[in-house]
Amino acid sequence: MQDTQLYQQILGLEHPWRVTGVVMKRESRTIEVAVECAGQVWACPECRQRAHLHDYETRRWRHLDSCQFKTILVAEVPRVKCEEHGTVTVKVPWAEKHSRFTAYFERLAIDVMLECSISAACELLGISWAEADGIKQRAVRRGQARKQATAMPRLCVDEKSFGRGHDYMTIVTRATD
Ligand SMILES: [Zn+2]
Repeated sequence: MQDTQLYQQILGLEHPWRVTGVVMKRESRTIEVAVECAGQVWACPECRQRAHLHDYETRRWRHLDSCQFKTILVAEVPRVKCEEHGTVTVKVPWAEKHSRFTAYFERLAIDVMLECSISAACELLGISWAEADGIKQRAVRRGQARKQATAMPRLCVDEKSFGRGHDYMTIVTRATD
């Protein structure tokens, strides 16, 4: 099996995305996986209307390591021109919009952060505090997006005064049975 086919399968990439090259950089202990998108009919990622290809933007994402080698995905991501939304970068299947990490890497990072301190997680994963924070924020947003509104069987409403004078705070809590 060729290395491009191996990474194509490891990454689970499907048409129109395909791995076109794998380069090992010994000095930096890095493997770079080049990914391309074969031509197809484009749609604006915002409104799903058909759009024309404008150009390509080179983007990089950190993926799960390959053994002791840091693994980076490098892709020429198409940008399309939508009449309503202007020039927009198409969505890639392996990462969220503004993330510089693949979804697999973010999943691992969250698991590590749940088990140890943030500084220890940064050390283990080789990421900065700001990058760890970005990964956490995106995980929180995903969790909130999955939440569904449910009717609460009972609510407690109370009013408490605080400080001096007539300052009151209304406290709404969910009552448990
Ligand atoms: Zn649009």
